[in-house]
Amino acid sequence: MSSDRERSSKVLPYGRQLIEEDDVQAATKVLRSDWLTTGPEVERFERRLAEVVGARYVVAVNSGTAALHAAYFAAGVGPGDEVITSPITFAATANAALYLGARPVFADIEEETSNIDPTAVEQMITPRTKVLAPVDFAGHPADLDPIRELAERKGLVLVEDAAHALGATYNGRKVGSISDLTVFSFHPVKHITTGEGGAVATNNEKYHRRLKAFRNHGIVREADELLENHGPWYYEMHALGYNYRLTDFQCALGTSQLGKLDWFLERRREIVRRYQAAFADLEGVQVPVERPEAGSAWHLYVLRLSGGARKRLAVFERLRIRGLGVQVHYIPVYWHPYYRRLGYAKGLCPRAEAYYDGCLSLPLYPAMTDPDVERVIEEVRCAVMEV
Ligand SMILES: *Cc1c(COP(=O)(O)O)cnc(C)c1O
Repeated sequence: MSSDRERSSKVLPYGRQLIEEDDVQAATKVLRSDWLTTGPEVERFERRLAEVVGARYVVAVNSGTAALHAAYFAAGVGPGDEVITSPITFAATANAALYLGARPVFADIEEETSNIDPTAVEQMITPRTKVLAPVDFAGHPADLDPIRELAERKGLVLVEDAAHALGATYNGRKVGSISDLTVFSFHPVKHITTGEGGAVATNNEKYHRRLKAFRNHGIVREADELLENHGPWYYEMHALGYNYRLTDFQCALGTSQLGKLDWFLERRREIVRRYQAAFADLEGVQVPVERPEAGSAWHLYVLRLSGGARKRLAVFERLRIRGLGVQVHYIPVYWHPYYRRLGYAKGLCPRAEAYYDGCLSLPLYPAMTDPDVERVIEEVRCAVMEV
């Protein structure tokens, strides 16, 4: 048993996995079997995930970043193309466009949800635009209807980065069933984990084939796809793919974790309800908004502090000293030195930059206990009022 002292000094990260004995059993059972990779657990995980997100096809890969790379490839992104995305995301959303020789274009965010603003997206479209890549930031779906409408009107492919949004809904539809291609991540801070891992969901058979080839060196084996056929051993490499395969023991872990998704989501919502009630009246902070059409998956709980970058830094430092693993999501992607060298400059997306000055992610994950939640509430209220 831990003493009060130990409990109050325990570090609470902003997110972490919840692995139980049955998850461990599911993975170790596969480790003792014949198939460690490219076996039956991969398809089982893909089928299960397809059901959960309401998509016809799912292709599992070994990271969310690989999933983005594969999705952009399937969408036909190549040198000279442009991919429009949000600056308030993990760098991988934009990086994966660079992998294919394309140029990421950043459209500013909207104030209420910190998601990409459909009006800003429209303004950034050029004849080179190939893909619109909204990010469901913090688990709240982007405003997908107007973005989808834009994509259809302009003949663009909609690739949704739903790394934060497994289990989210938009206008009653599941994230994973809405966009041409939807990307998920199973990194330990995300809703379910396979250690590292990711997946792409689609309803399009052509995209499905391209995704499957891309994760396996661009190799195809289906008789109707081959240009020649020398016999049962025969396969052909049709594109420059990668080894992005996810192992069977990881997929078994993923299937086991998927069985818990509903209560993981419910626990996240429960914690968020407490945070919302506790911080609604707190002066100097703005609590996150869930729009009526959205069912957020609540990957992150982001408070916005007024008082600028100095106030945020002071609150951040105080909470870190007090053992809360608060974080900042995200530094605008184009501020990174690598992007600056590519010619992107500060000032490009003023709303994203203002957001960055005040954002603070609090601990939020299903394994948090009620006393953990109370501790966060007390510490945050004190920090905001006192620093
Ligand atoms: C986590 C994340 C990724 C990358 O996923 P990995 O599995 O870590 O490669 C991409 N986009 C967003 C928004 C993410 O949060």
